[in-house]
Amino acid sequence: MEDETGYLSNEVFGIEKFRLCQEGVCNANLARRDIVCVMPTGGGKSLTYQLPAILTSGCTIVVSPLISLMTDQVLHLDEFGVSAVMLSSAVSHAESRKIQAHLYAMASGECAPKNEVKLCYVTPEKLGQDKNFWSLLNKLYEARKLARFVIDEAHCVSEMGHDYRPHYKDLGKLRTVFRKVPILALSATCPPKVLQDISRTLGLQYPPKRGAEAEPEGTVYFSAPLYRKNLHYSVLSKPNNFADAIKVTREFILNKHRNQSGIIYCLSKKDVEHVAKELASESNGQIRTGIYHAEVPDGRKAQLHREWREGKVNVVCATIAFGLGIDKADVRFVIHHSKSVEGLYQESGRAGRDGKDADCVLLYNPKDADRVFALTSSIPQSRGKLMDILRFVQDFEGCRKIFFANYFSVSAQLSVEEWTTEETAALDPCGHCDNCTRAPGSVKRVDLRLPAWQTLRAAEDIKRCGARLTLRQLGELVRGLGRGKVNVSGTRHKRTKGSITIAMDELAGGKVQLSREETEMLCIHLLIHDYLQEEFVPNKHTTNTYLVPGDKARRFTSLARSDVVEKGLGPKLESAFPVTGKRKAAAKDPGKDGVQPPAARAKRKRPTAPHPGER
Ligand code: ADP
Ligand code: MG
Repeated sequence: MEDETGYLSNEVFGIEKFRLCQEGVCNANLARRDIVCVMPTGGGKSLTYQLPAILTSGCTIVVSPLISLMTDQVLHLDEFGVSAVMLSSAVSHAESRKIQAHLYAMASGECAPKNEVKLCYVTPEKLGQDKNFWSLLNKLYEARKLARFVIDEAHCVSEMGHDYRPHYKDLGKLRTVFRKVPILALSATCPPKVLQDISRTLGLQYPPKRGAEAEPEGTVYFSAPLYRKNLHYSVLSKPNNFADAIKVTREFILNKHRNQSGIIYCLSKKDVEHVAKELASESNGQIRTGIYHAEVPDGRKAQLHREWREGKVNVVCATIAFGLGIDKADVRFVIHHSKSVEGLYQESGRAGRDGKDADCVLLYNPKDADRVFALTSSIPQSRGKLMDILRFVQDFEGCRKIFFANYFSVSAQLSVEEWTTEETAALDPCGHCDNCTRAPGSVKRVDLRLPAWQTLRAAEDIKRCGARLTLRQLGELVRGLGRGKVNVSGTRHKRTKGSITIAMDELAGGKVQLSREETEMLCIHLLIHDYLQEEFVPNKHTTNTYLVPGDKARRFTSLARSDVVEKGLGPKLESAFPVTGKRKAAAKDPGKDGVQPPAARAKRKRPTAPHPGER
């Protein structure tokens, strides 16, 4: 069997060697197992079903979310002489009737095996809604001509996933109606909670089991390390105002990637246009920008793709609409403003497809959290996602590769004793992300217990006043700026033209001795850990986000200051902060500011007994 797949992949697709877990997935397919396969973007997931499809009698049905992707695949298969078709709203009635007639002929035994359609691509909408197609599937099933169902981009099944598609939910029927047809679910972005959701919906065995525990008929799980070593991840602090943020972006591009291809992902269409225009003018045309978002007319989009390929445009400023189907191999950098770890990972996947080095930079300012909250306040699950990405950006010590490995890995569902050596290796630091390469002394550990207590006390006082403060306002207030005078909304307290004055001694906590940036990072830290929580207040134009005491606040603030300072009571809150500007000098002497290089503390979750692994 192995020889045959190897021979055929070379013969039909011109592929010399299997990559990642391709071979294992092909073999499990041929053994008619249900499979979940998580492999990085560009890893070669298509081959894992196309090859078995050629080798099995009957038709493999592939559910795919994007018509452009399906068209590409069908053309590609056609070039290789493999009989593949597509059914979607983009196919004419006549063509669709012809395809269905062909499939009916297969079901009724009127089609010679060599003339069989091997792969049929459908959209989830077609599969979910088209009764005729459903009865065609039934006929194929009864004639044993349904080889398998492939659910490509399976994370679309889950509301918790990236790019949820309601019609993917209908796929649950496949298992109940066609009990004996194996299912292969493919994805590149599938954190454990999404995986659980997908498995439940599709009727796959969950949680994943290996070795003796796995049922002989159970689902086989494959996950290739999602990490691509030519991608260099980093988080870059974004200045507070737009003009400075553009300067930072311009410097980064001109210093490191002059005249190279890159993408800047922005949070809104307005940002896309603004960033593209300013970047072009700030660089005196040295950075040739183009724009891409949902409202750009199709003709302009095609033109942009062309100009980008030809190098007339080198940086595309885009929303996430610019995504699947980008076929440019030499994207040297991607700059993100992301709302989720999944988004960040997926967007990064578009860099360095040629295997050469590429930068994936997340630009971040704590006030972005405010903005993302407002943008996503009505979307279920968005809070959890935002907290996850905030954990990523506020982590100045942990290797980025390990973060992704822990976040996405299927193996996170297994006990570490069951991990393969590959999975264990995924927890080795990459050695080249921003956190792995930080200079000694550029990050310091800060004891946040007292400033956290002060901030929470202030937040409670503010709440008692009936006032509400944004992240920025709370930060300014606790640092004693403006003598405690802050602009607030919804106050019942000393209101003067939309502002209130709170004498600092009214705030039982006293002033916080941290910089503005650090104080905002502290607030985010408290948010991530449920000491603060967000409150949304819609107004005429937008939704404002305010910070109020969270579930864990009360217990902490009930302590007296002396309990916290002298007795060291309360939760052990500390975090690593980057050392910036004038603090750098102090940081040179590690003893002075309690600063120590990150490597000294680089304790990582690692299994003790790696398992040689069977897949
Ligand atoms: P994915 O769906 O995982 O993002 P694709 O299946 O589209 O990735 O494959 C990405 C590219 O890699 C395709 O051009 C494909 O032909 C190529 N490819 C797949 N498997 C191999 C392999 N074993 N060796 C070389 N190239 C491969
Ligand atoms: Mg794919």
